[in-house]
Amino acid sequence: MSHHTLVKRQFGHRARLALSPAEVLKTDDQAHAARTMWNLLHAWWQMMPKEKRTLGHADAAIRQAREDIDFLAVLPAQAAQAVLKTYFRAWKNCWDGRADAPNFKGRFRTVMSVDIPQGRDLNITRVHRRWGMANIPKVGRVRFRWTKDLPVGKRAGAENRITGARLIKDALGWHIAFRVQTVEAKPDPHQGPDVGIDVGVTVPIALSDGETYEHGEWLTAKEKARLLYLEQRAAQRKQHRKPGERTSRRLHRTYDQIAGLRAKAKRRSLDWQHRTATVIARTYGTVVVEALSITNMVKSARGTVEEPGKNVAQKAGLNRSISQEAWGRTVTMLTYKTARLGGTVVKVPAPGTSRRCSACGFTTPGSRESQAVFVCRNPDCGWSGNADHNAARNVLHLYRMGLALIPAAGRAVVRRAQRVKPAAAR
Ligand SMILES: [Zn+2]
Repeated sequence: MSHHTLVKRQFGHRARLALSPAEVLKTDDQAHAARTMWNLLHAWWQMMPKEKRTLGHADAAIRQAREDIDFLAVLPAQAAQAVLKTYFRAWKNCWDGRADAPNFKGRFRTVMSVDIPQGRDLNITRVHRRWGMANIPKVGRVRFRWTKDLPVGKRAGAENRITGARLIKDALGWHIAFRVQTVEAKPDPHQGPDVGIDVGVTVPIALSDGETYEHGEWLTAKEKARLLYLEQRAAQRKQHRKPGERTSRRLHRTYDQIAGLRAKAKRRSLDWQHRTATVIARTYGTVVVEALSITNMVKSARGTVEEPGKNVAQKAGLNRSISQEAWGRTVTMLTYKTARLGGTVVKVPAPGTSRRCSACGFTTPGSRESQAVFVCRNPDCGWSGNADHNAARNVLHLYRMGLALIPAAGRAVVRRAQRVKPAAAR
């Protein structure tokens, strides 16, 4: 019988809120008040002598501001306290060298959000297969899309519960991001095979066993045409604006519509990434990926002095299929999804994985025939196959050679594994 240890897990779950226009206005007001509160706090901080910059003094200043300024009262006291805590944490992060110093938050550049620090204030219930309800302080009881079984009601306990939430507004409207805490049995080691993954040029994701994961366009032809039309119209209106003139309501509306379409595409791509990462995490025990650094990729795209722009076409192709940002997110998803299922994600240093032959191991000049097909020019080899598949096999081979990177104090270190598996990929 296997003995399981329990591990605490904390994660976020984001759901769309269905708010009435009146509720949207109330929530907007809270977000504006939260931002104003932050700015007041920042002004107060800059004014105060160092020895008076304490949580206690700041708390007193906030209470005073809520009494003096009417519109700040729309922000629930708990949310105001959350602003205070976040502000002090921002300074701590700055002093610890993890972030820049906090600054004023501008009206348009700031994500609108409101914190609900206490999970019990939410009083979440499921009212329908697809709908849940939650209390938002000073707004009321609202509906949200139920897409995941949350530990609420009878399923909630000291260990499995919702510890808080944050309301966030994006181009698609208001969302609620729950903070969920669960305690789960630590999984047995995943018995699945090892696999190498390459960010494909011809396909978004290519695996060393020949499997590929593809996706369609994120926007339909109609949506794309509409986006193009809106972007052109926005550019035109911007051009015809006189210097110093304010952005018109119509232009603002066009910007909102553009943001809405982009957010839709983003949501669809996130959904694809989640589903793909889940399938991979379920299938394989060890998932090997290239350690990509963005600076490297930009450098190789520009080329070197001797070989200007050598990889430009290749990297441009890469950008077409999956952006670096998207790939980074996929790796993050893979990391936590595999961990939950007893597997691991391993990174390997991967210079030249696309140019080296995965059959003979040599990088022979002129070997890469095209972006889609790899043909080895080594006279003793002559292997040919899908170029992405070739790169993925190289990634797996690097891991089997014991060249896994382990992160240490913010930089990657090459570690040689004690037991080197035979190079079965070759
Ligand atoms: Zn070869």
